[in-house]
This record gives sequence, C-alpha cells and structure tokens, in this order.
Amino acid sequence: MNDDAAVAALQALVRIPTVSDRDPDKVDTAAFDELLAEMQRRFPLLHARLELTRVDTHALLFHWTGGSAAKPVVLMAHLDVVPVEGEWQHPAFGGDIVDGNIWGRGTLDDKGSLVGICAAVERLLADDFVPAQDVWLSFGCNEEVSGSAAVLAVEELRRQGVEPWFVLDEGGAIASEAFPGVAAPIGVIGVTEKGVTSVELRVEGRGGHASTPAKMGPTARIARAITRIDRSPMPASVPAPTVELFRRMGPHAPLALRPIMKNAGRAKPLLTRALLAAGPEPAAMTRTTFAVTTLSGAPALNVIAATAKAGVNIRIMVGDTVAGVLEHVRKTVNDDQVHIDVVEQNEPSPISPMDEAFELIESTITELFPDAVPAPYVMMAATDSRFFTAICPRVYRFAPFRMTKAQRESIHSYDEHLGVDAFLDGVRWYGRLIERLPA
Ligand SMILES: [Zn+2]
Repeated sequence: MNDDAAVAALQALVRIPTVSDRDPDKVDTAAFDELLAEMQRRFPLLHARLELTRVDTHALLFHWTGGSAAKPVVLMAHLDVVPVEGEWQHPAFGGDIVDGNIWGRGTLDDKGSLVGICAAVERLLADDFVPAQDVWLSFGCNEEVSGSAAVLAVEELRRQGVEPWFVLDEGGAIASEAFPGVAAPIGVIGVTEKGVTSVELRVEGRGGHASTPAKMGPTARIARAITRIDRSPMPASVPAPTVELFRRMGPHAPLALRPIMKNAGRAKPLLTRALLAAGPEPAAMTRTTFAVTTLSGAPALNVIAATAKAGVNIRIMVGDTVAGVLEHVRKTVNDDQVHIDVVEQNEPSPISPMDEAFELIESTITELFPDAVPAPYVMMAATDSRFFTAICPRVYRFAPFRMTKAQRESIHSYDEHLGVDAFLDGVRWYGRLIERLPA
C-alpha cells in the first residue's frame, strides 16, 4: 500500500457518514455496513490474514498473531463520528484534498487513526512482516455516544485470556501551540483521563397558578443549589502527569517561566495558582469541574413549576472519586428538598505508568518527529480506552498526527482537517511502533 493508496483510503472512509447516535433507531446502519465493506476493499491483506471477531453491531476486533503472546498490544480507533455542525469551508463528508489537507468529519477524530493503523498493518503484511508480539486492533462503532462496543471488546479479550501489555487509543497528538511561548510541538500522551459523571438536581413542589407564588418554590431552590455549586469548587492541585508535562516543556518555555516549569514538582502550589488564574481550560487541569448544562421548570410562563431540574456535568479529576464528588455536591447544596439523581457515573482512569511501554511510544515519537517533546498529560475528554483499564494498567492516548491549535479546536466542531503529510507521517509512526515491539 503506497502513500497514494493510504490517502485514498482515508478519503473514501471520510466520505461515508458513520454518525453514531444514542438512539439505535437513529443510526444509519447502512453507512456502517458500507464502511466495513470499504475497509475490506482497501485493506485486503489485513482482512485475509488477521482473525476477525465482530463485536456489538459494527465494531471490529482483529487479532494479528505475532512471535509471542506474552506481551500483547491493543491499537484502538473508532469508526463513528459526531454529527456535522457549523459552516464548513469544504464539504464535511467530501474527503476533498485542498491546500495539502484532507477535509472532513472524522479526519482527526478518529478515521485518521483508523486508516493510519490499517495502512501500517497492510504495508507490514505486504512485506510478510511478523510482529514480535500479538497485535490486536480494536475498532469501536459507538465511541462518540458512550456506547457498549468498547466494553464488549474488553469482555471478548478477557474471554480469550488476553492481558494487554499496553493499549494505545486516540487522545494525544503532536500538538503545536500547546502552551504560550513554547515553540516546540509537544507529543502529548494521555496517561489518564477525567471521569465523566452526570447528575440531575430535582425539586418537587405543588405547582399552581403563577399569580399566587409561595416563597422558595422549586425553581428558586434549584437556582440556589446551582449558585452554591458554582461558588464551591473542589480543591485544586496539579497531578503528577501535569507536573511532568511542565517539567519537560520547561527547557522550551520563555526564559522567565523556565525555573518554575523545570521545578514544577517543588513549585506545585504556585503552578496550581497560575493555572487557576489562566482561564477555564488551564483551570480544568487542576480539579474536578462542575458545569450546569440543562435547566427545566414549568411548561408555560403563567404556571408555577411542579418540578424544577438542573443537569450537572461533572468531570472528575484523577485523585477524586464519584462517591467523594457526590458527597461534595450534597454538602454544598445543603438542602434536603433537592434530590440528586445520578444519571451516569465514571471514575477517572488510573494513571498509567511511564515505564518500558511508555518509553517505546516516546522514543518512536522522537524517531518520527525529532522536533517534538514527548510528555504525559491528563486528558480532559473521554475515550473508549477508559474501559481497557479494567484489563490493562498501561493505557495511553496518543494519535501520531501533527495538529495545530485550530485543528484541535475543529474536533467535534467545523472545518476538521488533517494534513496529507501529517497523515502519512502517522502511518509511518504506527508502522515503526509495531516493528519496534520487543521480543
Ligand atoms: Zn474520538
């Protein structure tokens, strides 16, 4: 599979609108069928020589038998994309190449990785290469809607007695403009991710006509609960991976910032304060966050709400727990009449160690992207790989593609695009990673 064929494969897969939805009836299953058929056409050796287990509706779990099954590796990506939003410069499902970029939904999230992995494997198979270790490819079909494919893939691996040495999923990137004043791109490797938990605050009342309101009705109580949560953030601190991230960026930072960044470990309180003051994004790196997202009251303007509700989306920092966070909400709201219904709960992922497997990822980054500084970081968003922490302590989130700040912001937004050269570097990176697996 030459470079042109790899690029054409990415274009072809981007043109198939595999949009997932929480409601299975709203999923265009024909699109997913078509995607699987297209993959089979584009990657014939992969499909002929790897053993395939179908998981969930359209998820794929491939097994490539290597020289040893002692340290199996799982490479992940997902087939589904989020719906199209906003005004695009080029068609969202066009896969057009303009100005050296491939445009379209999924180029970065996550068909770039999907095709990158498959193209690398296809090339190695063409050379009759046998990896030193078993390689598993796990491609989910409902990552964007927290679907069950990843959980089922983990179950299947467990059933087959597979305990991965490490798991690699989307998440990080070769990120330019990662930190103000740092010119070098940072090869950020997610070693943990925040846990996503949602609760609904609910107050029930008698309702009635809006001409005769009582004091502290359901809506007022909900409003008070919201402002209390807003005013009582959880304690902030800088977790170990963030300390290491700053330590590694230190030599590349503006002179004035170098001492504090190089000594991030000892300067933790100072660093915490600086991040908190730097805006919502850096602040989110230091603690569990609460965002009140949905609100509901009466169905009409002249009716007193019988039920008032507020949805709170919580991103739990590594070190905190679901139980601890719910206790914080209960104490902060401090009102028996406000019911707290847990809608979804996920603990933050444990921190993956920076040992031999991390070093392999790191040195492969340095080999392919000599200008980049590899570093661990805490992911703010959720990936399918969080479920793999149940069977593997080393779960890393990294996509080997150069991404500007604007490109990272286009994920789940509009004008998503991936550089053709950046994509091809990524294909080579996946290939080198597989070639370098130790015996
Ligand atoms: Zn994704």
